[in-house]
This record gives sequence, structure tokens and C-alpha cells, in this order.
Amino acid sequence: MSDIIHVLSDAVANQIAAGEVIQRPASVVKELMENAIDARATSIKVMVKDAGKTSVQVVDNGCGMSEGDARICFERHATSKITSAEDLFAIQTRGFRGEALASMAAVAEVSLKTRRPGDELGTHLRIAGSRFESQEPVQTPPGTNFQVKNLFFNIPARRKFLKSDRTELRLIINEFNHVALTHHQVEFALIHNQAEILQLPPTNLRQRVIGIFGKAVNSYLIPLETETSLTKITGFIGKPEHARRKYGEQFFFVNNRFIKQPYFHKAVMNGYDQILAPDHIPSYFIFLETDPSKIDVNIHPSKTEVKFEDERSIWQILLASVREAIGRNNLSPSLDFHKEGVIDIPVLTKDTEVRIPGIDTNPGYNPFEGEKSFEREKRSTPYLDDRFDGWEQLFEPASGTAVSTSRNLQVKNKYILSPVKSGLMVIDQRRAHERILYERMIESQEKRLPLAQQSLFPETIRLNAADYQVCLDMIDGLEKLGFDVRDFGNNSVIVHGFPADMSATSVGNKLDMMIEQYKSLQGNIDIGTSERIARSAARASAIDYGKQLTDLEIQELVDQLFACSNPNYSPSGKLIVKIIELEELDNHFKE
Ligand code: ADP
Ligand code: MG
Repeated sequence: MSDIIHVLSDAVANQIAAGEVIQRPASVVKELMENAIDARATSIKVMVKDAGKTSVQVVDNGCGMSEGDARICFERHATSKITSAEDLFAIQTRGFRGEALASMAAVAEVSLKTRRPGDELGTHLRIAGSRFESQEPVQTPPGTNFQVKNLFFNIPARRKFLKSDRTELRLIINEFNHVALTHHQVEFALIHNQAEILQLPPTNLRQRVIGIFGKAVNSYLIPLETETSLTKITGFIGKPEHARRKYGEQFFFVNNRFIKQPYFHKAVMNGYDQILAPDHIPSYFIFLETDPSKIDVNIHPSKTEVKFEDERSIWQILLASVREAIGRNNLSPSLDFHKEGVIDIPVLTKDTEVRIPGIDTNPGYNPFEGEKSFEREKRSTPYLDDRFDGWEQLFEPASGTAVSTSRNLQVKNKYILSPVKSGLMVIDQRRAHERILYERMIESQEKRLPLAQQSLFPETIRLNAADYQVCLDMIDGLEKLGFDVRDFGNNSVIVHGFPADMSATSVGNKLDMMIEQYKSLQGNIDIGTSERIARSAARASAIDYGKQLTDLEIQELVDQLFACSNPNYSPSGKLIVKIIELEELDNHFKE
């Protein structure tokens, strides 16, 4: 028998390696932009077509390449940035593996036009699927112009794997923002299908942050500045009262490279200790600088994770730095979210807003009638078997209504306690409300009878470029739920109306939260768009923990919860109701 092991051809090896570095159009954008930065460009223009699936083009005014370098730069491990393995530890530039261009050339059609400022003529080279096609002299401005067309044209399985244009474009915008944030002195432009998405002139860091995230950010940035022998920390953190119940404006950069660092995120959160509302996350744009030999950037192929030698010390420094910045701005004393009442017995005062959380009863709605929504539950949640059947029997027959008002207790503005026949029932108020809203939304989607209330003063909401794309994706679905959200161009939308049972306060915040929820569900392919929107809207509109409820509201919440087809679990499958059995209670008091 002949030997069965053979060495893969370069083209195949490159295709395989490409999987690590080039996952989607956004990776092309990232690699090309970083190369342009390394080439000391002062102006970088990114043009994409069809969310980069048709073409990604990056034009810079950097150092350019010689004819020979233009040819060799597509070879694997071709790099001008390191010559020895030791260099890896001292690396300051973005790329260092010499893999990006080889990978792109393996899985796309690449055209490179480049000229060094001192040369009279530039060179134009074309390569596709690792196959060299042509190279000839060309008139071209100094700098480099890469165009990467038809990504994965030769690997249909991978091309199919790409997400919708909006999603891919959002990911491109994220990568673009990371590079633009770390190089505020460089001019950037991002153009999609000939429409300008972002245009960023060279400026300081604060103005760059504003350029990307909108003018409103300016009012809540607190500068951060700490220098120790181990690390230098600069950037901005958001004022505590501007923290939101969503992720989106949290950025760590280490030696000017965007990284994900959950460990340091905790340090920042600790810095805000006790001055954040529950579940709220502050914005931050934090730049750590440290000796490159003390970190290992190489641990993750897409290079968004870094290993630190002095992780713990940096954690401490970061925490201190955040605390100091907050203290310096003298913000702490004015905020006190840390009211820890033991049991809040709701009282009606003239300030109590009885209508909020606006749990309206729909007398015509009987969830047990509509087998349709029941069916849908069956498909979307695995918990159906656990639902209470015949929940009514839980309660004393004599009590008349299901749960008598006077016997409900709200604990820590979070749980509702109710004595029931078999013991003590504990209800999570936010999840309960989320379930109620969710079922109502599914209903209005199916019946196509949303109740929109038009606002007198439509609210214009400016989003960051990535969220704006997500929001456009959601508009049709939101309309079915009774939202009237319209595209206003320039990263803005106008909210003209919202469902009748949603309170009109902080519409912008709610929209933000919905977008955030929607994004977080995007990875889950089992959940369709309308389901995602219903879940996101329910989550964003549900009453929060910490919200004190009146007796009447508690009563309505409980009644409506048990009118739901699945009162036991929130739409995302979290427990809403727990019964502590009498026997368990008895056990505590045996002796
Ligand atoms: P790496 O960035 O890790 O060196 P790449 O494959 O991204 O690997 O690039 C290979 C080489 O091509 C770089 O080291 C650099 O010399 C050259 N190069 C790439 N992009 C540019 C550019 N925009 N301007 C000038 N030279 C470039
Ligand atoms: Mg590179």
C-alpha cells in the first residue's frame, strides 16, 4: 500500500489558516486598517459594498510598498514587523504574524495598488484564491489601496455562514470604531454603498469619542489619569448616573489594541461600588499602557485577549484610578441607591404613580382560549411541562379572588410574597411583568391589532452607528407591537408612538435597552426575528427591581401573571414563581 500522508499545498494551507484570521468582512476591515496604521498613515478611508460581502476597500496615505514588497506581502509569514521570535515580545505594532494578507488572498479576490512617496510609479497587483494573476506599473497616489472582493468566493460553505448585511455591517462598524478610538490623531472615513457612515477628522480623544458616540456623551465623561511604574491609565469613564442597563460603551485598549477583559471590567465596576443603580453598567473608554514584554497578545488568534504578567496589581491600580476619578468629580455623595429597606410595605401617598407600571387588563383576552400562543410556547421554551396546571387550586377557595390583596407582601421591591394553600408563593416582580408584556406582544403580533399611542412630541433619538443599523433591522417588527419608530437618517430615529401599555418615560432608554436585548439574542438562531423583538421589548419595558408597587399594582401583576399561558418562567426561561412548601416551612420550626 502506498503512503497516505501528504503535505498540503500552500493554497490549501492558507485557506485553513485564513479561518483563524479572516472570519468575516469585519476581520478584513480590521486587518487592513491596522496595516494602514502600521504604515503610519494619517488618513484612512474604508469603503464597503454590501456589508463587505461584495467588497472591502481600504485606502491609506502611508509609507506604501516597493514592487518587490507588494509581491511578497501575500506570502505566509511575510512581515516587515519582526525578524526574530524575541521580537514578538517587544512588538508595538498591530499585526505581527504576517498572516493577514496571505489569508485574505487565499479566500478572496484581492487587488493591491501601492506607491512609496519617493517612487514615480506605483504597482498594481492582483491575486485570487492564492493564485497570482497580474502585476503591472500604475499611476496611483502615494500610499496603499487594498480591495478585497467576493470574500469566500471559493469556500461557499463559509460564505453562506455570513449573517445578514445589517449584522455584518454592524460588526464592521465595531471594528472600525476600535481602530478609530485608538488613533484619534488619524483621519478616518467609513462609507457603505456610497453613503457616508462616519467621517472623523483628526482630533483629541474626547472629540473622537464624541464623533463616534454622539454629542450627548460629552456631558458624562470623567477623565481618567493614573501613572505608575507598572502601567499608565488614561481615557474616560462615564458618570454613574449615566450608566445604563446595557452593554455597548465599554472599551479597554491595551497598548492601543482593543481587548476584551472581563477581569478588568470587574475592577471598574468595583470602582463604582454602591453608586450604580442595580444592573446598570457605566460607559468607559480606558487605555492601559504597559511594557509590551509584560503582556502576551498572542494567546488568541483574533487577538482580542491579552495575558498580563501583573494582572492583580493592574486590577488594583485600575480600581483605585476609577475611584479617584469618581471622587474627584465629587459625584458620590449626591447619589444613594443603596437603600436597603428590610420589607417595604407599600403605602399610597400623593406622589405614588399609580398607573406605572401600567399593567392594563384586557378583558377580552383569555390566554387559555388561544391555543395558538400556547403552541408557540411549546416550541420556544422547554419548560412547558413545569407550568402550573390548575394554578387556581393553589389558593384557598374561600378567598374569592385568586390572591387576596391584603395578604400580598412586597419584599425589597423585588419579590412579591403571597400565602397560598400549600405554603408561601414568591414571585419575581420584574420577570412576572416581562412575561405578561411578552404574551401580550405575541398576541398583538398574531392578531395584528397593536394599540399605538401617538406621542404629542415625537422624540428624536441619536444612536451610535452600529446600534442604528440594528434598530433599522427592528423597525418593521416593532411596528407590529405598536411602536411607531421611523428612520431619520444620520444615525437617528424618531419615536412617534409606542404601545398603549408602555409608560412614556425615558423612551430613548427603552429603545437602547431593546436594541441591546435584541443584539444579545442574535446569536441564537432558534429564535426568529419577531420573537426576538417581542422578548426584547418585554424585557426593556418591564418594571425594574427597586420599583415600589402599590397594593393595587401588586394585585394586578399577580392576577395577570396567572392569566398567562406560562406563568412559571420568563420568556428567556428564568424562574418567576417559586412555592416554598408548608412542609419546608414547618421543618424550620420543628424544635
Ligand atoms: P503583518 O501586519 O502581521 O506584518 P500582514 O499580512 O498584515 O502581516 O502584512 C504583511 C506586510 O505587508 C506588512 O508587514 C507590511 O510590510 C506590508 N503591508 C501591509 N499593508 C500595508 C500598507 N497598508 N502599507 C504598507 N505596507 C503594508
Ligand atoms: Mg497586519
